[in-house]
Amino acid sequence: MAPSLARQARAFCCNTLCTERVLSPVLVLLVHALIVADVAYHRRELWQETTLWYRSVRLLVFTTLALYIGTSCTNPGFLDSESRGCGSCLLLLCALCMRDSNEKVSNPTIVSPENPALLGASNLEMDQGDPETGKMDEGIKRRGAPDADNDGNVEGAEGVELRFCKRCRLQQPLRTKHCYDCGRCVRTHDHHCPWVGSCVGENNRALFFWYLLLQCVELGVFFTEGIQGISLLQPSVVLMVGLLFIAIFFLMVSCLLFFHSFLVLANLTTWEHISWRQITYLKSLRSERGSPFARSLWWNVAVYCCGAFWCPSLLRRVPNARYEQGGLCWEMSEQRGMCCLIACCAETC
Ligand SMILES: [Zn+2]
Ligand SMILES: [Zn+2]
Repeated sequence: MAPSLARQARAFCCNTLCTERVLSPVLVLLVHALIVADVAYHRRELWQETTLWYRSVRLLVFTTLALYIGTSCTNPGFLDSESRGCGSCLLLLCALCMRDSNEKVSNPTIVSPENPALLGASNLEMDQGDPETGKMDEGIKRRGAPDADNDGNVEGAEGVELRFCKRCRLQQPLRTKHCYDCGRCVRTHDHHCPWVGSCVGENNRALFFWYLLLQCVELGVFFTEGIQGISLLQPSVVLMVGLLFIAIFFLMVSCLLFFHSFLVLANLTTWEHISWRQITYLKSLRSERGSPFARSLWWNVAVYCCGAFWCPSLLRRVPNARYEQGGLCWEMSEQRGMCCLIACCAETC
């Protein structure tokens, strides 16, 4: 009995605890705590002063942490969980769910785009597979090929072919991608983030953006506070090393923030921006003409924020977007680049 228990405990540790889903958040939170403690130790005003500025800084730290945990624990839009995000804050439970995900079989999800403009979705060729891993993305066939139906692909009502994921056994709505790290299809897939330990998708990308913004501000504030904490007579090596890390992280996060700001305004995802030529519904379009999902700057921002599961239903009406089975129903239309979007930032062109 005892060896069996030990084996189960070892398997639990290997399969659940020692996974990216748990280790990444633990590592990030640990580094975050070390940096905050380092600066706070040498700059005691950060936790002793009760002025508005220092109260705000402390609030900033907790809000940044909450946004990070929220991003990591929010269901990014897995297709086989039709709930509006589990909202679970238990990393352990999330890891258990992820481990069992491959065993689940979901009901097919079919989206029928209304806009007929998407000629670009025709003449599709065999998909080249996942650009990140080099694995073939199964089930993607040329439309009209004799055995297309055998692979489960479905042609939408307006001519947009919907991909069938053989791994999850479901029809993918537009902008959905199978993540090989998570082992599931994710709605409006942006990217798999190793720092978050999960995907960034339709439900948590707004949280991810706010996390980047506040993390950037927090790093900037702690850098300036840390500089003021340096003693000219006895400079602390620990503080200097901490400030070096803060400067590096600040550069990384600010670059990511600028990139995601562009994606929000252009209504693109990281996956689409990087792998345009390999994506079934985009490859026949010219990338310089902009996203076929964009309407206007205002609409792009609104739908970015209101696509999340935690967005109140009242706010979801703001972008006047369609929702289906708990997720955004994307519709392709004529492409709109940044110049066009800036020219008609408040109204649909
Ligand atoms: Zn899948
Ligand atoms: Zn993933």
